Amino acid sequence: MIEEMDFENRIVSPEYTYADEESELSLRPRSLDEYIGQDKAKENLSIYIKAALQRKEPLDHVLLYGPPGLGKTTLSSIIAREMGVNLRVTSGPAIEKQGDLVAILTSLNEGDVLFIDEIHRLSRNVEEILYPAMEDFSVDIILGKGPSARSIRLDVPHFTLVGATTRSGQLTAPLRDRFGVLLRLELYTPEQLAQIVTRSAGILGIEIDNDGALEIASRSRGTPRIANRLLKRVRDIAQVEFDGKITYETASAALSRFEIDELGLDDFDRKMLTTIIQNYSGGPVGLDTLAAALGEEAVTIEDVYEPYLMQLGFLNRTARGRCATKLAYEHLGINDNSVQQSLF
Ligand code: ADP
Repeated sequence: MIEEMDFENRIVSPEYTYADEESELSLRPRSLDEYIGQDKAKENLSIYIKAALQRKEPLDHVLLYGPPGLGKTTLSSIIAREMGVNLRVTSGPAIEKQGDLVAILTSLNEGDVLFIDEIHRLSRNVEEILYPAMEDFSVDIILGKGPSARSIRLDVPHFTLVGATTRSGQLTAPLRDRFGVLLRLELYTPEQLAQIVTRSAGILGIEIDNDGALEIASRSRGTPRIANRLLKRVRDIAQVEFDGKITYETASAALSRFEIDELGLDDFDRKMLTTIIQNYSGGPVGLDTLAAALGEEAVTIEDVYEPYLMQLGFLNRTARGRCATKLAYEHLGINDNSVQQSLF
């Protein structure tokens, strides 16, 4: 519970929070044309969708991977819409028993899209049900116990599984191999995020100019979910303290109030970089050591904080651990001569 509250308090957390709920639905793009950025993934997907529609077959199973908040859930609903089928949404941790998954699979209609978020968190037991379901559209269930137990095979409709994970490397090989389409989502550029902010402002009836949108975009860590959240918070400040319109001035005044710097870094990012620099001479420092020093889980550091710091060129992942780069020293105003940097 405490952990959840921490996440909610962190305004630049890319994870979904309750406060996002009301607007996420209305802000979600509904077609590939409305979906901004991710050109490579979009182009591939649109070809596969067209081909499947022409053949009147369900789409092959799709694995989406990339950091949280980049549009994986959105893309799965677009796939269902473009294929003209229903979407069922669930997640790895929500499916506890084999029977839960069998119930979901047997209740699907022909062609439906089943979206499993955090698919790497399915238990091995449950995962085994998915293999024949994905490959042969059947499941084996065991009835009874002991010597009288018997296994029966049930057919399931031809469905499309869309799995989402933060890292494809977390998936077991047999599961990963059963996906026909693997799409990697990348962090967005500030220009793409500015388009998303402008689009969302239009839907929410917020007045914003280009510089205001770009200012919010450049502090959103390459993540649409954060961009939309910052937009709403900046709107509040623009409304109460300015004339309501979001410009460069209102956006930057509001965002510095949230202690997000001009590159979107917050306290935790700065603490992480200064810890590497000051406690470990700029690195390399192993992930687990760093996690212990910061009091944060290693997976969270890896999935949530590091992708953006690496995109900025502030952090390198090496075989021997994490290293802060010269750019990080410069951004934090730390003179690297004052800290002896280890070369090994
Ligand atoms: P994920 O499933 O990867 O965590 P979501 O699909 O829930 O991310 O996306 C988070 C929010 O970001 C959505 O509500 C949507 O409004 C917005 N969003 C994501 N991708 C895009 C995009 N390409 N264009 C416009 N808005 C987007």
